[in-house]
Amino acid sequence: MAQQTHSGSDARPDTKILLGCIADDFTGATDLANTLVKAGMRTVQLLGVPRAGLSVPEADAVIVALKSRSNPAEEAVHMSLGALQWLQAAGARQFYFKYCSTFDSTDLGNIGPVADALLDALGARFTVFNPAFPTNRRTVYKGYLFVGDELLSESGMRHHPLTPMTDPSLVRVLQRQTPHKVELVPYASLAKGATAVREAFEGLRESGVRHAVLDSITDEHLFALGEACADLKLVTGGSGMAMGLPANFVRAGLMRTGRSAQLPRVAGPTAVLAGSCSVATQGQVAQMKRDHEAFELDPLAMAAGRDVAAEALAWAGSRLSERPILIYSTAAPEQVSEVQARIGREQAGELVERTMGRVAQGLVERGVRRMVVAGGETSGAVVGALGVEGLAIGPEIDPGVPWTFGIGAPTLALALKSGNFGGPDFFTRAFEVQP
Ligand code: ADP
Repeated sequence: MAQQTHSGSDARPDTKILLGCIADDFTGATDLANTLVKAGMRTVQLLGVPRAGLSVPEADAVIVALKSRSNPAEEAVHMSLGALQWLQAAGARQFYFKYCSTFDSTDLGNIGPVADALLDALGARFTVFNPAFPTNRRTVYKGYLFVGDELLSESGMRHHPLTPMTDPSLVRVLQRQTPHKVELVPYASLAKGATAVREAFEGLRESGVRHAVLDSITDEHLFALGEACADLKLVTGGSGMAMGLPANFVRAGLMRTGRSAQLPRVAGPTAVLAGSCSVATQGQVAQMKRDHEAFELDPLAMAAGRDVAAEALAWAGSRLSERPILIYSTAAPEQVSEVQARIGREQAGELVERTMGRVAQGLVERGVRRMVVAGGETSGAVVGALGVEGLAIGPEIDPGVPWTFGIGAPTLALALKSGNFGGPDFFTRAFEVQP
């Protein structure tokens, strides 16, 4: 998807926003959006810094989703500052920098350099860092990040292809990414509540510390920390750390509770596109195939030069209705390995993603207005092919997966699901709970 890095002068939300967020990847942004909606904020997610003239629906929080996690630090800083500028112009009072709950980064960045650049641009001197997400078993104790029962450095993250995490100490990891002083606000402070944490921040600030890593083990800790961060211009963290922020706006009289976003009612032909081969998606495909029409996309046919997207669209043509059809490339591990051995892992991925994008485009041209898409990369490819520039976030379908509504015409209802998310009947149940 094309990333725009310059703010458009006349793209503005219809009202002033409270929380302006910058996320370093697409699915992470959706995770944050879902958290904010559950905490009562009307939330819009923009895919890249918006172009001039884009009309953005009324919202309490706007998240600019970048793809900056693994770029060179300079590029990530440039993109993040572009997002910040737009959010500042949109009136945001507080800013949030969202990264992964496993603190995905290297000694070159990008968490430290981006946070430093944002602080400088905001004229602020202090911020916090906290990737904890207890619901997903990411916790921080004495500055050490745990993934489930394992230290970060003993978890699968040590083998990550782009950002291998081999040091579990967030203070050390971050200190290597910034010339400024990093310290810990330990569990002992946060166990005493928000006031004690605020005092700890004050003490650190006075001793010249710019970056505080925060311990947290439970959601209650995150709520207390959120309260303690009410006056910080910039907060950084995973999606968990954002949980406690919306209540600050309510306490300050800036936001009413129980107000939900005006979401469009979308009806029309319906489809499910599954490009994930994860275990949960395999189960979902198997379940849906039992009593719905389904079409399998064959990567080897694509590699042989057949126009598989056109074949799928011809098949779909007479079958489109409110009852969802399924178009999938989902396959069992042996089948995927065989395809990869014959045409290469990357080429297989690219061919399937491109085909999914063309199928999505063709379906929308043929009137489809409601779609579930399974797979992180697949969702990126679909949204890119459809030219969707932003999403208004609706209610959660299953943990971590909300309904979203594309900004612009025609209005599309989209549920973009990371491969392993959702219960076995997700593909059909999603449409039953669509607002
Ligand atoms: P997940 O969220 O489960 O990781 P993704 O969509 O991010 O799902 O990634 C799945 C990748 O596998 C995509 O690049 C997709 O194009 C590719 N893929 C899908 N089906 C097949 C298949 N049958 N054979 C080989 N690769 C496939």
